[in-house]
Amino acid sequence: MTEVSTKQNLLDLDREGLERFFAEILGEKRYRAHQVMKWIHHRHVTDFDDMTDLGKPLRAKLHTHAEVIVPNILLDKPSVDGTHKWLLGMDGGNAIEAVFIPDKGRGTLCVSSQVGCGLACTFCSTGTQGFNRNLSTAEIVGQVWVAARHLGNVPHRQRKLTNVVMMGMGEPLLNFDNVVRAMSVMRDDLGFGLANKRVTLSTAGMVPMIDRLAVESDVSLAVSLHAANDELRSELVPLNKKYPIAELMAACQRYVQRKPRASITFEYTLMKGVNDQPEHARQLARLMRQFDNAVQMKDAGKVNLIPFNPFPGTRYERSAEDDIRSFQKLLLDSHVLTMVRRTRGDDIDAACGQLKGQVMDRTRRQAEFKKKLEAQGIPANGAGDAAA
Ligand code: SAH
Repeated sequence: MTEVSTKQNLLDLDREGLERFFAEILGEKRYRAHQVMKWIHHRHVTDFDDMTDLGKPLRAKLHTHAEVIVPNILLDKPSVDGTHKWLLGMDGGNAIEAVFIPDKGRGTLCVSSQVGCGLACTFCSTGTQGFNRNLSTAEIVGQVWVAARHLGNVPHRQRKLTNVVMMGMGEPLLNFDNVVRAMSVMRDDLGFGLANKRVTLSTAGMVPMIDRLAVESDVSLAVSLHAANDELRSELVPLNKKYPIAELMAACQRYVQRKPRASITFEYTLMKGVNDQPEHARQLARLMRQFDNAVQMKDAGKVNLIPFNPFPGTRYERSAEDDIRSFQKLLLDSHVLTMVRRTRGDDIDAACGQLKGQVMDRTRRQAEFKKKLEAQGIPANGAGDAAA
């Protein structure tokens, strides 16, 4: 049996939580919490004894009541193109992945929110593995911490890690509180100091949580669409049976209306012969135009085309280059802002949808998760079958 620590992992707390912990548990002033936050996130120091401006009595109190547990790095894998992947060990033999992708003046870290995923999108490697558990705030923040330390990131200086996308393993809106708290540390000046716009949450379309996000956080939103008609989308993203396109677009509309000048990126993974034909592009263009009209803002909806990244055992293939170009052209001709996301880190399997990690003991947890989802009326079919 491993001993369960009764100490507070400080990586689990955002500024507010840390201030409260310092006041209520340690009987210390707020600015002390701020000092510790800077030691951890700006200087990557985790041993209280090395936090030299704290004074001995406070350091002793910290030792008694607190700890800083960062993820355990199982594998640290640089790619020839500058991409970098970390495999991080979790409990019970589980592991998750985080990927850093440098690109002309910016560096994006792709962060995981769950061990596995219960939504079972048919074209996603994580989706075929089933769900194990949510990551804690510390485990989400820890991914950024590991990358920032490796890259020597210090806020307000020229830095390599400039953006975070919650596009690794898992559905971030099904781990709402931990993800929102972690994103608050990412955007805090005492944390990683990233601009609000440079932290992006990507969702498969958890409608009620999109509404909550609009109220409780201030980050960029990306929505994984993949098809502009319900029949096809339900096949690719089973969650669509619970929240079909019209409801999803209505939630996106409410989101943009609540946030002046915000836009939403719609992700569309292109799969050969599945969703990459001119008729699909026309449907998507129509949907995007309707969206812009509904919110009365040009380019409120942008499209990000992702050529499918294959993984072992998948039945899908990447679309042909010509089809990708025609798809983009059709959208551009319809005045829809459309980018194609080019794959990086091919040699280390670091591309979107290829993050596999290591998901153990998923059958029991999967069944529990499925029950929970079904209690909310969300069909989680497919996930359980894949895990069985
Ligand atoms: N659950 C969230 C975030 C994780 S996936 C979501 O669905 O948005 C991050 C992005 O990668 C999503 O747009 C997802 O659809 C896409 N993706 C998943 N598998 C892929 C694959 N094999 N090739 C290309 N993109 C993929």
